[in-house]
Amino acid sequence: MNHPFDYEIIYSSRKTIAIQVTRDGRVLVRSPRHCTRSYIDTFVSKNEDWVLKHLARAKELEEQKKNSSSTHPPLSAKDRSRYIEIARDIFTRKTEYYARIMGVSYGRISIREQKTRWGSCSSKGNLNFNWRLILAPEEVLDYVVVHELAHRREMNHSKAFYAIVESVLPDYRAARKWLRDKGQMLWEMV
Ligand SMILES: [Zn+2]
Repeated sequence: MNHPFDYEIIYSSRKTIAIQVTRDGRVLVRSPRHCTRSYIDTFVSKNEDWVLKHLARAKELEEQKKNSSSTHPPLSAKDRSRYIEIARDIFTRKTEYYARIMGVSYGRISIREQKTRWGSCSSKGNLNFNWRLILAPEEVLDYVVVHELAHRREMNHSKAFYAIVESVLPDYRAARKWLRDKGQMLWEMV
């Protein structure tokens, strides 16, 4: 009889026949010594669905193990605060630089790690930046800084708002696209 998988027979002094699928995806048939090969084969046929289900599960677990070992370990608190310090320095300098060019004022600069936003600007001009942006290409950081500073003139995303952004960064669309398409990567790098 043909089965969609190979199996090993392990004879022993046990009284009943049983099938086992190991974690590494081997099929073992534990059988009493007196069982014939054809009896065992018929038994395996009857349990084929069960075996296939467990083989699929073993494979799935194996994949999961592979994937979780290939991703990096969680970021330590110490490394995170180091990144935040670097980000604070970079964003402080960039904000100073672009605010002067754009002729706008601003308040406090905070560095955060918010899953859903890269930056924000309050009505008082306090700015938030996501530290993970420092892992992105420089044009992307520049875009986020200019975007938030442009809100000092326009608290919306109107045409007038983007005209301000474009006057400072003519290629801002590429950076915006990068964030939309690849921004998620910044959560996977470290
Ligand atoms: Zn905005």
